[in-house]
Amino acid sequence: MLPSAPTLCHALVIGLDGVRFDLLGPDTTPSIWAFGQAGFLAPVTIDQATPTWSGPCWATIATGTGVAGHGITTNDLTGHRLADHPDFVTVATRAGLSTLLAVSAWAPLALPEDGGPLFAEATRREFVARSEPNLAGWDAADQATTDLAAEILARDGPRLSFVYLGAVDIAGHLTGAGAAYRDTARACDRRVGRLLDAVRSRPSYEQEGWTIVVVTDHGHLDQGGHGGREPEVTTAWAAAAGPGIHPGAPPVITGQDQIAPLVLAALGHPGTSDM
Ligand SMILES: [Zn+2]
Repeated sequence: MLPSAPTLCHALVIGLDGVRFDLLGPDTTPSIWAFGQAGFLAPVTIDQATPTWSGPCWATIATGTGVAGHGITTNDLTGHRLADHPDFVTVATRAGLSTLLAVSAWAPLALPEDGGPLFAEATRREFVARSEPNLAGWDAADQATTDLAAEILARDGPRLSFVYLGAVDIAGHLTGAGAAYRDTARACDRRVGRLLDAVRSRPSYEQEGWTIVVVTDHGHLDQGGHGGREPEVTTAWAAAAGPGIHPGAPPVITGQDQIAPLVLAALGHPGTSDM
């Protein structure tokens, strides 16, 4: 067996559900905007074969394969082929890396509900249920998830973490892409800033080779909802920064299926024979 790849590399993926690309900017989302300046922030078009729903889009992001591979076309994941196309957290976990899965409120990502979990294995799995079925409940779950994940990131610094926040998508569904949606995005951006600060506050941060990705799954119609192939729905986005991602360089993510490979490459391809 060959020696392991350098171990001082870490990755954090922050998944934000349903954040429209045209919502991003220095005023509404200053943390995400500034983060993009350190690497890139670019639109990512959902491919033609993928329904513009959370289930299939997150499955593509997590597995690096499209609908033809993972087999997920709705928000019920039943019948998936994730055993053949495991998510990046599972791949890293099976290779012996410490991993964190922290999910706010949407069960099938983390729990055996609706055909889930999408993320099969993690060293530490945290799911924060919403206390009430409305925007306030989702918002509180996002905050609690952020608090918990920030604490773990700052203290333990898992080699790979996936943190999921869902309130912006719920705001879109409930109220459309208006003032409440924008306000929820501001809160979401503050949570992203908190997570970034937690990582950067680590005493050994400079030696830990952090690759960080912030990504959404789909947009929303003006009146709210997923729609179909409308540009405001199909235009997702991704931002990334870290070793080898140079500010001002062309985006290295142009498809949702490129995120898992990027994350695993940043970790030295855990689980592959050349590790
Ligand atoms: Zn979604």
